[in-house]
Amino acid sequence: MEFRDHIRVIMDFPKEGISYKDVTTLLKNGEMYHAAIDELVERIKPWKPDVIVGPEARGFLFGAPVAYALGVGFVPVRKPGKLPAQTVSETYALEYGFDTLEVHADAIHPGERVVVVDDLLATGGTTLATANLMKKIGAEMVGMGFLIELAFLKGREKLADYSVFSLVEY
Ligand code: AMP
Repeated sequence: MEFRDHIRVIMDFPKEGISYKDVTTLLKNGEMYHAAIDELVERIKPWKPDVIVGPEARGFLFGAPVAYALGVGFVPVRKPGKLPAQTVSETYALEYGFDTLEVHADAIHPGERVVVVDDLLATGGTTLATANLMKKIGAEMVGMGFLIELAFLKGREKLADYSVFSLVEY
């Protein structure tokens, strides 16, 4: 069975017109979750990352097990006000309004190779903001891996400076 068969699609969530890709149905299946992490790991390993970065919250669910499997560190990127030490922040435009992401200023040693892992690439706004945060703290941004890509939203165009892959495309 393919990963796609384990992703539940909910129409009009969280608002009308959105076809929401629910990964909880894949996560609760041990065999599928394991296989998805294994495939992310196989694709990311050749990039020789020093650190995996995952944006809150679903980036933790995929990024942390990838980091564990590769034996490298994991760095969380969070919504404002959640990280206790000195942070660096990046604000980016949403469809309506703005959002901000933060990372600890000392999360990365300068020059470390970083790969971003998240559940889903939509417009690419979240991932680009994460990549910009990484550059601000001196990381070498290598690439990004996703379980799901909404190809019609053209997030890859926003991430044209980086290597990008996904396991399931819509
Ligand atoms: P974006 O910044 O537009 O690439 O969106 C990134 C984040 O928004 C993803 O990591 C998802 O968690 C969430 N997201 C956006 N669109 C969807 C969707 N259709 N279904 C589920 N999650 C989504």
